[in-house]
Order: sequence, then C-alpha cells, then structure tokens
Amino acid sequence: MTKKNWQPQTNLTHLKTTVGTEPVFVNPPVIRGSTVLYPSVEELEASIFADPLFRTKQSYGRFGNANSRLLESTLCELEGGAGAVCTGSGLAAISTAIWAFVQSGDHILVSDSVYLPTRSFCNSLVRFGVAVDYFDPKIGADIQNSIRKNTKLVFLESPGSMTFEIQDIPAITKVCREKNITTLIDNTWATPLFLKPLALGVDVSIHSATKYISGHSDSFLGIILCNEAAYAPVRRSGILWGQCAAPDDVYAALRGLRTLHLRLKQHETQALDLAQWLQGRPEVQKVLHPGLPGFAGHEIWKRDFTGSSGLFSVLLDPKFSKPAVHQMLNSLNLFGLGHSWGGFESLAVPFDPKFFRAHGWEETGMLVRLHVGLESLDDLKADLLQGFRRLNAPV
Ligand SMILES: *Cc1c(COP(=O)(O)O)cnc(C)c1O
Repeated sequence: MTKKNWQPQTNLTHLKTTVGTEPVFVNPPVIRGSTVLYPSVEELEASIFADPLFRTKQSYGRFGNANSRLLESTLCELEGGAGAVCTGSGLAAISTAIWAFVQSGDHILVSDSVYLPTRSFCNSLVRFGVAVDYFDPKIGADIQNSIRKNTKLVFLESPGSMTFEIQDIPAITKVCREKNITTLIDNTWATPLFLKPLALGVDVSIHSATKYISGHSDSFLGIILCNEAAYAPVRRSGILWGQCAAPDDVYAALRGLRTLHLRLKQHETQALDLAQWLQGRPEVQKVLHPGLPGFAGHEIWKRDFTGSSGLFSVLLDPKFSKPAVHQMLNSLNLFGLGHSWGGFESLAVPFDPKFFRAHGWEETGMLVRLHVGLESLDDLKADLLQGFRRLNAPV
C-alpha cells in the first residue's frame, strides 16, 4: 500500500506493481489479452449476469486488467479520487465523461478556452437535444448568471491549453454544488502533481495521459478521475462506449509516472526561463504563461496550483503577417512543428483564436504555442533567435 504521508516522488518510485506473494519484478508484466477463461460454465454464466461495475474478477479484456487497474488506483492516490477509468485517448476520456452526465433537454456550460476537439464533441451533442453555451473562462462566480434551470454540467479547462486563461475553480464549483451541477475539468496541463481539482470541489478530473504522464510521444491514453458520486456513471459510460486502453500504452504511462516529477520540474524551469526571455523580445507583444507575475490569472494560479508545466503561448506583434510567422516556424530546427505535447521534445504551433472563440478574446496578432522540451535552454534560445531573424526578414 502507498503510504499516505510520503511525498509524490516516493509514491511514484515505490508504487506497488504486482499482486501476490511471490518474488516479483520491479515492474509489472504487460498483460495482453481479450478472452479470459473460466473454470466452469457456471462461473462463465455468472460473469455474464454480473454488473460489470462491481466485477472483482477479470472477466473480459475490454473491462480492464491488472495493468489498467494499477494505473487507475495509482492516479487516484496521486491526485485524489474515489475511482478512475482508463480510455483509449484523452479525447475519448473527455467524450466518455461528458456523455455520462447529459441527456436530451439538458444545458451544458463549457469554457470558451477548451481544447478544440472538446468543443467539437460538445457541439455534436446539439443534435441529441443538448444545448451548449461557451462562457468566458475568466467568469468566476458570475457563472451563476449563465446557469439555467436545465444546466446539468460545467466543463472547465484551466489553464486553457491554447490561450492559458486561469479559471477560478473554487468560485465556480461553489456555485455548481449549490445547484447540483456536475463539474468536469481537463487537467492535462497541470498533471496530477500540480493541481488537485477534486480538492477544489470538481467532480471529475480528466487527463490526456498521452501528454506528460506517458511523456515520450509514443502512446495514446486517457484517464478519468472521479469522486464517489461520479464514478459509477463514468464507469458505465466507458463500458457502453467500449472504452479500453491498450496494455502497452498503459505500461508506457506506468513507466512515465516514475519520472513525472523530474521531467515536470525540468519542463517547468525551462519554460519559465524561456517565457521571461521571450517577454524581453521586441517581436513579442505578450507571453501567455500563468507562472509569470503580471499575467492575468497569475494570482489565482499561485493560490490553486503547485507548479507550471512546459506549455505556453506567445502573442507576436500584430505587425507580423501570417506568412512571416510561417517563415519563422519553418526555419526552426529544435522546435518541431507538430500537434500534441508533453513529450521530451520541444514543439511549436501557430494559431489565431479569433476563428473559434465566442468570448473574451480581444487580442490581435498571431499566437505561437510552444512546448518547451528537455533540450539545452541555450540551444533553444539560439534556435528561436535565428527564427526571429527569419520573422523580421522580408517574406
Ligand atoms: C491532447 C489533449 C487532449 C486529447 O488527448 P489525446 O490523447 O490526444 O486524445 C485533451 N485535452 C488537452 C488539453 C490536450 O492537450
């Protein structure tokens, strides 16, 4: 058993990997398998009629196995949670969790800063008679003015993974609790180490474990952490959607957890240093990083989070055209151009929130989102410096 008074890094190093009393390997074996064999037809039949939610024995691979159970219980201990559900991807975790709580006639409120595919999923619910409104992520307790009689769910993402607004989570969950509204949060940016949403009144915390938890850009995995009341509906939703995580990807996440604290500390330090350096560049209008003093949500971030990760955005001077920004990004050698983040490597993506935001985005200028990897900071700065030269060059 994990000792409750250990620090997270001790828990991660000593996480128990195998059940039983035999001498065991340090790491769990990867369990691949669909069919589970039963000793008798009676036990086979009993398994068919058992409520999958309360199955204690392994019954069919899709319902999970010792690997996924280990990951689920470890993350519950790390972040807080009565139960967790593994899914095949982060987005699958989001859609599975939302689907658990809504039905035709309901209204849901979604932060305007959410991950774009989350937005697409919420919009897809409209055809099933669910009304969706997007709220200004900086709304705080004023969310009560957006709540209707049929509001069932509020979805948060703090900070927004493109524009980095910090939400006042306790203020929002206080209002929602009074009105019996379920709150969900995408906690991918902070990881279980830097934010404990359930302690702030959130009912369900969701991770794309594809990012920092796995940490090596080589697997797909989602995880949904639930409080007591939310666990059964979320588990049932996962069962209905056939959600299961590939055992090799679960293994990658369990392995990634061992070094999560070390990697995150390094991503944090490097990203903060680079963010401050970028603030001093004439090409940069604003750096969107919650850990920077002066950033709009900084005080709330300091109150609720225990760290910042390696992902932030840079708002360039509006004088730079899209082709100039592309010229800069094409010239980068160390910042790869690619989606996702949370691996060991640095990445950059350009975007303009004007095209999808409903509220609270008044800035002009192109944004570049950076993931700061584990390369040398000097090398990263040199790469950006030559990129800025291309940005300033005639297109
Ligand atoms: C990547 C990401 C997801 C989706 O995760 P996948 O594992 O790629 O499906 C969800 N939320 C955030 C904030 C993300 O960055």
